Amino acid sequence: MSLPEFKLLRPRSIEEAVSYLDKYAGNIRILAGGTDLIPSMRQRLFEPEHVLDVRGIAALRGIRPQADGGVEIGALTSIRSIERSEFLRQRFPVLSEAAATIASPTLRNMGTIGGNICLDTRCLWYNQSLTWRKGCGFCIKKDGDLCHVAPGGTKCWAAFSGDTPPALLCLNAEIEIVSAKGVRRVPLQDFYTGLGDNYRKLAPNELVTRIFLPASTAGYRGVYRKLRVRGSIDYPLAGVAVAMKRTNGHIEDARIGITAVNPAPMLIPGVSELLAGKTPDESLAEQAGDLAAQSSKPLTTSALTPEYRREMIRVFTKRAIMAAAGLD
Ligand SMILES: Cc1cc2nc3c(=O)[nH]c(=O)nc-3n(C[C@H](O)[C@H](O)[C@H](O)COP(=O)(O)OP(=O)(O)OC[C@H]3O[C@@H](n4cnc5c(N)ncnc54)[C@H](O)[C@@H]3O)c2cc1C
Ligand code: SF4
Repeated sequence: MSLPEFKLLRPRSIEEAVSYLDKYAGNIRILAGGTDLIPSMRQRLFEPEHVLDVRGIAALRGIRPQADGGVEIGALTSIRSIERSEFLRQRFPVLSEAAATIASPTLRNMGTIGGNICLDTRCLWYNQSLTWRKGCGFCIKKDGDLCHVAPGGTKCWAAFSGDTPPALLCLNAEIEIVSAKGVRRVPLQDFYTGLGDNYRKLAPNELVTRIFLPASTAGYRGVYRKLRVRGSIDYPLAGVAVAMKRTNGHIEDARIGITAVNPAPMLIPGVSELLAGKTPDESLAEQAGDLAAQSSKPLTTSALTPEYRREMIRVFTKRAIMAAAGLD
């Protein structure tokens, strides 16, 4: 499949990039690693007149530990750099674990953390060629007005399928977003809408520039577990991140983030109430698994059945809690 025609823009600074975004808003797409954007453009899911290649902006790269114990990560930092960073492995291990499961080594070299956060949602009926989609009469997410997954409904249920966002949510991450109007900083938790089509709160003229991890979650134990069809290279079909702080054998704080089973990655509500102050054991881990399964609502958007994906959220959560508690 060939690419549609577009004009390539190569800014050298954030200011230049946002001025292009402002000028061509609505008809421009940001290219970071391109590992998701390019295949999607080949499938004619996006046909922008302009593509903004931000890879020449050095200020967007890097992992910078802060004096207070937190860290800031440039949006263009490769997934490979995140996976390999000794600092992140020591201080924010759940992020390193999640990064290490993404795609394949080649794609991790190209793919970026900003692209992973902004990743388009996925569905069996959407990530297909133009001819394939046309044959099915299209759907709400692109060019049509019906949903093949939930017929009769008006909502798109395509699943958010990035691996690092559930880990970042567990770490209380915030992101910086820049446009010609200025800079805003938002908790990652507020970035996603929960809708499969309009899935992120990012205006067409905005660029994600930095990710911040606070000192308060540094040192939390971290585990990431993922279900995928091919172990060597694949998007998650269910993913669970756990970050846990332990004191004297008790759980002081714990968070569970899930991905690939809803239109947005999410933190499981009620985890702190269930786990804080308790001594971890198998029964407690099982209860956490039940809680996580309750929040996962997969539909037939992927090759595996919704029932199996939901069950794997339960199983992975239990295993991840056991592993984080050193009981596996
Ligand atoms: C075979 C295959 C397997 C894959 N497996 C996985 C997997 O297991 N897990 C996983 O999470 N992903 C997977 N991916 C998807 C992808 O490789 C990763 O998500 C990667 O991190 C995307 O980053 P990128 O820089 O390549 O994004 P791009 O493709 O460049 O961009 C993705 C989207 O984000 C937008 N964007 C990028 N950067 C910014 C920014 N700074 N500000 C605003 N918008 C931005 C782009 O406009 C585009 O809409 C897979 C891809 C392929 C082809
Ligand atoms: S969930 Fe429905 S509307 Fe959304 S991409 Fe799939 S088929 Fe299309």
